[in-house]
Amino acid sequence: MELRDLPSVDELAGDGRLAHAASRPLLVSAARSALARAREEIKAGADPGDLVGRVELELAATREARLRRTINATGVIIHTNLGRAPLAQEALERVRAVAAGYSNLEYDLGEGGRGSRQDHVAPILRRLTGAEAALVVNNNAAAVLLALAALAEGREVLVSRGELIEIGDGFRIPDVLARSGARLREVGTTNRTRAADYERAIGPETALLLRVHQSNFRVVGFTEQPRLAELVRVGRAHGLPVVDDLGSGVLVELEDEPSARDALAAGADLVCFSGDKLLGGPQAGIIVGRGELVERLRRHPLQRALRADKLTLAALEATLALYLEPESAARRIPVLRMLVEPVEAVEARAERLSAIVGGEVEQTVGRVGGGALPLAELPSFACAVEEELAEPLRRGEPPVVALVRDGRCLLDCRTIADSEVDEVASAVTAARE
Ligand SMILES: *Cc1c(COP(=O)(O)O)cnc(C)c1O
Repeated sequence: MELRDLPSVDELAGDGRLAHAASRPLLVSAARSALARAREEIKAGADPGDLVGRVELELAATREARLRRTINATGVIIHTNLGRAPLAQEALERVRAVAAGYSNLEYDLGEGGRGSRQDHVAPILRRLTGAEAALVVNNNAAAVLLALAALAEGREVLVSRGELIEIGDGFRIPDVLARSGARLREVGTTNRTRAADYERAIGPETALLLRVHQSNFRVVGFTEQPRLAELVRVGRAHGLPVVDDLGSGVLVELEDEPSARDALAAGADLVCFSGDKLLGGPQAGIIVGRGELVERLRRHPLQRALRADKLTLAALEATLALYLEPESAARRIPVLRMLVEPVEAVEARAERLSAIVGGEVEQTVGRVGGGALPLAELPSFACAVEEELAEPLRRGEPPVVALVRDGRCLLDCRTIADSEVDEVASAVTAARE
């Protein structure tokens, strides 16, 4: 075939075989793309083949979902690139119920008038953390931004040099601080900061003391950070609030990961944490603490721009409800379930998968991820298959994201659910074809 043999866009889109394939505008754009590719191939000396078939492929690609369910075979439980926390069944059901119809999102059913979207989740957050008041926004970055804007705009915020962190995707504490309109005043040094360093830095311009959980790294060796209670003592002595950004935040006892309840009990005035890290819910930023401060955040104009939507609030309320019975939380919330699953069960899954696909069972180390417990090593097991399968597995349906190490592709079974084993096995078979 030569360039001049190609039909026009209109001719191709008008081909009878495509008559019911799509609307006219979609057909025209698919025909245009198919012809552009065909032209490239002819110039490269190749035969473009059946053009109608090419248009059908273009149409299929246009209709295919881009944001897709993906199987996490990396062993990293809270994987930010893979959407962080999978939701509990109860949360999914609540989202479906609330989203499929109307809801009382901002309607007070008792009074028959306007209500607040913040009123649904606040009571259970207060109960679970012991806080006076609670507020939910779009994510934890927004929570920190709102707290600083509402409490420290135009004034100074004291932060330890050891806590000026960057978490994934360029979220840097100093940048958020600048955007809030507050001014950063660094205290202490990278490895050592004492309560006295805050004390010395306090002046007429100081608005609050900010503590940031170090999240994704640890400074080891000759280090010192004041305990929260010491910071609170300094804040109280000068009438300044202490805001604690916990990052992940947990609602159950988990190694040395700080919980909102502990932070409030130590005297923090406001505590911020994420909804989709260790909590295991939807993306959200949760702020709990003193009623009068939370109220200032709620009234700030940015709150309207940063608020959470009804799907988030529905999923969050249902997830939080599971924490009312701590044993049900560990069973029902996927993040917690993966975290506490006995290694023998993970090994059994790796054996089952390996038996189907002819792989080898290999001991691995899983991670919590999401900036929580960065040094924690979760004993795990993987099914090891050929390295070349990593790419076709990613491109398959459903996509499977695995780790490549030492010339092999590792399917880590800590983050693969029991119900996904057969699917992963089929994906491996398909990837070998
Ligand atoms: C993850 C994290 C954030 C940002 O939370 P998002 O919910 O991702 O916006 C802020 N601070 C700390 C310490 C974190 O670990």
